Amino acid sequence: MVRVNSHYQMLQAGYLFPEIQRRIKAFSAQHPDADLVRLGIGDVTEPLPAACCQAMAAAVEAMGTGTGFHGYGPEQGYHWLRQTIARHDYQQRGCAVEADEIFISDGSKCDTSNILDILGDDNRIAVTDPVYPVYVDSNVMAGHTGPADDQGRYGGLQYLPLTADNHFRAPLPATPADLIYLCFPNNPTGAVATRAELQRWVDYARSHEALILFDAAYEAFIQDPDLPHSIFEIEGARDCAIEFRSFSKNAGFTGTRCAFTVVPRSLTGRTGDGDEASLWQLWNRRQSTKFNGVGYVAQRGAEAVYSSAGQAQVARLTSFYMENAAIIRQQLQDLGLAVYGGQHAPYVWVRTPESMGSWQFFDRLLQEARVVGTPGVGFGAAGEGYLRLSAFNSRDRVETAMARIARCSLQ
Ligand SMILES: *Cc1c(COP(=O)(O)O)cnc(C)c1O
Repeated sequence: MVRVNSHYQMLQAGYLFPEIQRRIKAFSAQHPDADLVRLGIGDVTEPLPAACCQAMAAAVEAMGTGTGFHGYGPEQGYHWLRQTIARHDYQQRGCAVEADEIFISDGSKCDTSNILDILGDDNRIAVTDPVYPVYVDSNVMAGHTGPADDQGRYGGLQYLPLTADNHFRAPLPATPADLIYLCFPNNPTGAVATRAELQRWVDYARSHEALILFDAAYEAFIQDPDLPHSIFEIEGARDCAIEFRSFSKNAGFTGTRCAFTVVPRSLTGRTGDGDEASLWQLWNRRQSTKFNGVGYVAQRGAEAVYSSAGQAQVARLTSFYMENAAIIRQQLQDLGLAVYGGQHAPYVWVRTPESMGSWQFFDRLLQEARVVGTPGVGFGAAGEGYLRLSAFNSRDRVETAMARIARCSLQ
């Protein structure tokens, strides 16, 4: 009989979101008419920017004509899109990133997992805690970890806490790491990294010959012009970092699918023989072999994000969500809660009151305010005592949720 990848057996059975669903179902069974406000999801709620829709409609039309039809495109993405991204997102911000260092894909979720294909199995890995679960689970699936302990921490991974106590600045690894996952602006804590903070990581990576996997899916939500949007704004990052970006959150492409990964040509890793190998060449090879590119229509839609109309529409979308985040922050602060994030990211990270556990606070909000959040502990042991509220919702629903929370007794 065929053997399965037994590393999958080590995964903790998709605990967080099923458990949330279970509790919602139990509550709804008792209160069938309850109108729940869901601030737990990490999906956008506003429609696509008009510029993207128009570009995609035109692309669909073209595909139905003899001259405008497109078959397989380049595995790395169309040059016109790579060029546009390189100019707008990098060169105009003073980063030396070239079009051929940009690899278009159908999502950062798959890229952050697939990148392990080109990396060895014996790297020492560091992740933050709390963390975007994809980074951890993809390493479990690849057999890079031991089993999880009773707090859900996998053996062999180094967890770097992100908490109010360290002002959401992850400590540098206590024991040397070869591979470091960073996500700023951060999901779930909403924390953002300053230039100095990222410089500290780049310096660490260069002195330890480590690779940083930098997830910048939320860069568009940064409000302060002094904060870096890309790790390549940091001196030396071209020698130690890969960056992941997505059109999912800025342009609402969660259901359209287009993202990109930046792999500098200067980046190298070590082979088993101790030689240096180009990560660009390996990723190019990996994509050419295992990936056939993103649809032409989606790439035309992504290109339209950079048109002047597209830029204005994306700015309106992100400010709409950031106004939601500001409302959530303000209301919770007025209630005396300690509130983090939500200033450069669409997530507000709330300290639970009276040292309540994450799940206890989740239940309290569900039962008394009929508001659904995400328990912080679901993102890692250090998330215990926090809850994530998402700003991805309509203004009306956010205001309803906040008015209800204000009316319930949280102490
Ligand atoms: C939403 C999100 C992404 C984007 O994933 P896609 O697959 O591009 O939709 C990447 N990283 C984090 C941390 C996210 O929350």
